[in-house]
Amino acid sequence: MQYEAVIGLEVHAQLLTGSKLFCACSTRFGAEPNTQVCPVCLGMPGTLPVLNAKAVDYAIMTALAVDCVVNPISVFARKNYFYPDLPKGYQISQYNEPLSSRGRLDITTESGQKTIGITRIHMEEDAGKLIHGEGADENYSFVDLNRAGVPLIEIVSEPDMRVADEAVAYLKALRDILVYLGVCDGNMEEGSFRCDANVSIRPIGQAALGTKAELKNINSFKFVKDAITYEIQRQIDVVEEGGKVIQETRLFDSTRGVTVSMRSKEEAHDYRYFPEPDLAPLVVNEADVERLRENLPELPEAKRSRFGDAYGIPAYDAGVLTSTRALADYYEELVRLTDEPKLSSNWIMGEVLRLLNGNGLTITGSPVKPSAIAELLAMIKDGRLSNNMAKEVFEEMFKTGKTAEDVVKSKGVAQISDEGAITGIIEAVIKANPENLERYRGGKDKLFGFFVGEVMKAAKGQANPATVNKLLKEKLNG
Ligand code: ADP
Ligand code: MG
Ligand code: ZN
Repeated sequence: MQYEAVIGLEVHAQLLTGSKLFCACSTRFGAEPNTQVCPVCLGMPGTLPVLNAKAVDYAIMTALAVDCVVNPISVFARKNYFYPDLPKGYQISQYNEPLSSRGRLDITTESGQKTIGITRIHMEEDAGKLIHGEGADENYSFVDLNRAGVPLIEIVSEPDMRVADEAVAYLKALRDILVYLGVCDGNMEEGSFRCDANVSIRPIGQAALGTKAELKNINSFKFVKDAITYEIQRQIDVVEEGGKVIQETRLFDSTRGVTVSMRSKEEAHDYRYFPEPDLAPLVVNEADVERLRENLPELPEAKRSRFGDAYGIPAYDAGVLTSTRALADYYEELVRLTDEPKLSSNWIMGEVLRLLNGNGLTITGSPVKPSAIAELLAMIKDGRLSNNMAKEVFEEMFKTGKTAEDVVKSKGVAQISDEGAITGIIEAVIKANPENLERYRGGKDKLFGFFVGEVMKAAKGQANPATVNKLLKEKLNG
């Protein structure tokens, strides 16, 4: 029997607001435990939540970026469950009436383009964090409520993906959009962008969906791929051995590369959702939606295709250069200064990114600004520097922050383009190699390379290669 997998993803993204969803506490990551808390997010009786308007704007911007309908009225609901990191005993979320619905996201994989449906995007608050003690503290667990009440959006996809690669492509595309919008930092390690993957299998040709397992705790793109790939095979094995896949929640154990059962359907929570009585329904008026729509930045996909069209660079280049907004801005600035789209792309993708990566920097922290590279590229164009020399000069610029002109002056690197100087070197080389000159003139054309090499050596690699070629030919043949 041939099977196909069906995958639907639920993504939780932390919104980049300064304060929490229902109180004024800071959302900063990494603070001392329980220093960013107040009676509201501690769930004290008698407190009242006040909705963060900026979080609503960010959620709407995300909805618009993935073509969702923004619902004019949505309703916050209490999702009740008991857990030590949840001081109120319920999480404020949205349930039947979410902020937005019915969107789409285009993804590209090796098998081509595909559109993945987005079921809904709703707002909710995060819970706190449990830290399980080690060593002397191994009998204790600690709770840090700094994260309790931090604003999240949950983005739920349709079960439209069929292989792990599509899930990874979806997540990458979604994360890029959130980061471009500036509504989420996309940091998977810190948990600002996390994903649950729902996976089922069915015989190929069957329309009905199979029973799904929900995979939790996946915090990198690689783990998403590994967890889904493992889970698909596990379900196929279960069915092939005559068993039945059961509906359950499974955890991905990244050290062993396997998924393990966490709780089955029987143990599933009954959340007893009901509308949050302390918050009025959220009314979003059309003017606000339009204002946000008009201010959306250019999104990754649009930028990629514009870069291809406007600058005539290959799709690969456009993909790399638009990987972040800052890198794209850097590239566009360099092109504006040089009017050399492909050369600029080569330099950024080659030298600039190589040194940035090697030094653990991103483009925002680059010690070399586009204007300084433009100056360097102009020196190549003028024939003052060869490409290889320019690379050396660039390394020095990167290390010291000096301009190309300063590096060239202080290091004495400059390409010799002066015909008189080069002729002098050529004549000396010819004089020193009378036998090879004879053999060359006798028909051994290959010796031309030998002479080029000798001239370059004598010029310490600083002679303009085109001039050397031209003059050497004249001298050897004349
Ligand atoms: P639940 O109520 O268990 O959370 P939902 O219907 O809300 O289930 O779906 C949650 C996620 O699971 C969605 O992303 C959806 O696309 C996906 N999903 C639903 N049914 C299946 C299935 N049979 N196989 C794979 N994914 C599924
Ligand atoms: Mg769910
Ligand atoms: Zn608070």
